[in-house]
Order: sequence, then C-alpha cells, then structure tokens
Amino acid sequence: MVHYLDHAASTPARSGAIEVLTRQLTHGYGNPTGAHRLARAANRVLDESREIMAEALGATPGEVVFTAGGTEADNLAILGSLEARGGVAVCSAIEHHAVLDPVLYRGGVAVAVGPDGRIDLERLSRVLTPEVNVVSVMLANNETGVIQPLAEVAELVRRQAPHAVLHTDAVQAFAWLDVAEICRDVDMISVSAHKFGGPQGVGALVVRTGRSIEPRLRGGGQERDRRSGTQNVAGIAAMASAAAETLAVRDAEVVRVSALRDRLVRELGDRLPGVVESGVVDGVRAPKTANIAHLCFEGVESEALLFLLEKEDIMASAAASCSSGAMEPSHVLAAMGFSRELAAGSLRLSLGHTTIDDDIDAVLAAIPAAVRRLRERV
Ligand code: PLP
Repeated sequence: MVHYLDHAASTPARSGAIEVLTRQLTHGYGNPTGAHRLARAANRVLDESREIMAEALGATPGEVVFTAGGTEADNLAILGSLEARGGVAVCSAIEHHAVLDPVLYRGGVAVAVGPDGRIDLERLSRVLTPEVNVVSVMLANNETGVIQPLAEVAELVRRQAPHAVLHTDAVQAFAWLDVAEICRDVDMISVSAHKFGGPQGVGALVVRTGRSIEPRLRGGGQERDRRSGTQNVAGIAAMASAAAETLAVRDAEVVRVSALRDRLVRELGDRLPGVVESGVVDGVRAPKTANIAHLCFEGVESEALLFLLEKEDIMASAAASCSSGAMEPSHVLAAMGFSRELAAGSLRLSLGHTTIDDDIDAVLAAIPAAVRRLRERV
C-alpha cells in the first residue's frame, strides 16, 4: 500500500470529478463556441461550471476566467495587469515561482517575510507607493502551509497604493480555507483543480468587474477576450465537481486532517531530537493550513531521506529543487532565515482527503529509523 503524503503537489482526483470527466469526454465533446446541439450542450456545461466556481470563490460568473492551471492564472494576473496599466509589481519573497518569477522578470519587488513565514507588513508598507500597479500575496504557502495576513495586506494596499490591484494565489488554500469569505476584498484570485481533487492542467483566475487585464493568449476571444483558446470543458466540469465536493466537506475535513497532522508532528518530535517545524517561533506556530507538516531534520539531506522513505512506500517531497547537479535550498526557507544546512534537511508531508491513521502510523514508523540511519552515516 502506498502512503501518499504529497497532496500539496497533486491530490488524487475525487470520484465525482472522475465520473464527470469521463462522461464529458465520452458524450460532451462539442466545441462550446459552435452552434449545433452538441456545441450548445458543451456551452451549457461551461456555464454551469462557471457558476459553481464563481460561488465557491465569492465571485460572479462573469468574473471567472478559466485557465490551464495555477501557473497560467498567476502569470495572467501579474503580466496581464502590468500590460494593461504599466507600473510596478510587488509580491512576497515566499511566493510560488509562478508569481515570483513574472514579478522579478518585470523588475518588480519581493518583500521579506519574518521568521514565522508571514509577510513583513512594515516592509510591505515601505514599498507601496502610487506607482504600484499589482500586489500579489499568496493566501497559504505551498511549502510551509503558513497563512498570510491578507486582510492587513489589503488595508495597506488600499491606503498606500490606491491604483494597485490585489492578487492572491489561493492554489494551496482552496481545499482548507474559506477563500470566498477571506478574499472578499481581493481583486484577483488564482486556483488550480489538481490541488482539490480535479484534474491537472485546469484552473481559474477571478478578475473582479472593473479590474482590467490584457490577455496573454490572443486568438478566438474566449473567456470574454481575457484568455483565448478552446476551453478544456471536461476538465473544467470536473474541476467544478471537485470544488463543490470540497466545499461540502471542507469544515469536517479541516478538523479531521489537522488532528492527523498534529499527531504526526507531535509524535515525530517526541521520537527524534533535532526536528524543527517551520513557522514556529518561540513555541508558537503561525496559522497554517490543516494539511501540511513541514519539518527540517538536523544532520540529514532530504534527498537521501526521501529515497529511504520511498523504499517504505511513503511518497513525500522536499522543499528544494535540484539545479545543475546541486540541491538548491528552498527560497521560502531562505527568506524565513533558515540556515542552508537546516534547509537541506527539509521534508514536506502534505495530507489530504485520502489520508487515514494508517498513513500517519507508517510515517511515524519509518522516519525515525531513516533519520537515525542517515545521521549515523555522517
Ligand atoms: N501556486 C502555488 C501556491 C502552487 O502550490 C502551485 C503548484 O504547486 C502553483 C501555483 C502552480 O499551479 P499549477 O501546477 O496548476 O500550474
């Protein structure tokens, strides 16, 4: 049995979403821009899916732009805003690369975070000027799960950068937080289906009425000219089904999954010395999504740890990427002030809708043994 603890990377599709996807691919293959019966049926599915996504995100249907995933939604928000109105882009230093890279590519500013992984509001305040056009601060971080103080960010933006639009990458948040409620004062919101039980390669960007963006993809004028290209109708319908199911069980899942996550973190700390949980400062944990246990193991390389865990059928991930043969520590941990050595031993165990006690037991059995083995090698 595989113990899948990488839900923040991609969570398994929900059964309802698989059914909708299969049905749509089998029977609903019409192009939604066409005029005949099958085309009109596809267009109806698109409309219904748009309504479901709009409600889930606290938006109107006309404000929902379907995209090919979170990366495209983030790029459209940042680059589309800059192209529409010029000016400067600002984001936090711990954004996913889908936000950070377009911001830096266009000469924007990345604002530091504190050791708890939350954006430094004082530093943000210093860079917010009337020249700022777009501010992007994620709702929940993909490595640490730390939730950002969006209400405070919104207040600062409105006061000091009155021409700016506020974007949030809610890709990791949607399965765990009430995005519609939290983002009421946010102008643009990105989500991605494969983080909440829909297929990979489908997502959405909310663009509030009156907030203009220039398209990144030009062509047939779909999505009200904001994103050309025939929509992935089956994927979008499956995303809407997954979103509806996620919302129906979200409150209960947050309670269930956070209890599993907390047991995992607590018992690992009891069984092993030298385990540091990110986002915890002076014993106080910053607010986090329910599903992420992000830990650094002193004296261990995460690559080697992942290798040993996979042998025990445990799938997890490290918050580091391998570039030109050398493991690069995560920019998120670096921004939070983690030393290179400690960051090199980071492990993200992310839980989700299929996680059960057995998975936690397997991890609690495997990690202490693997970490001791690796520490003995040094
Ligand atoms: N933003 C965040 C916070 C993410 O975690 C991810 C994916 O890991 C993305 C954006 C990119 O989404 P996608 O994989 O759908 O392009």
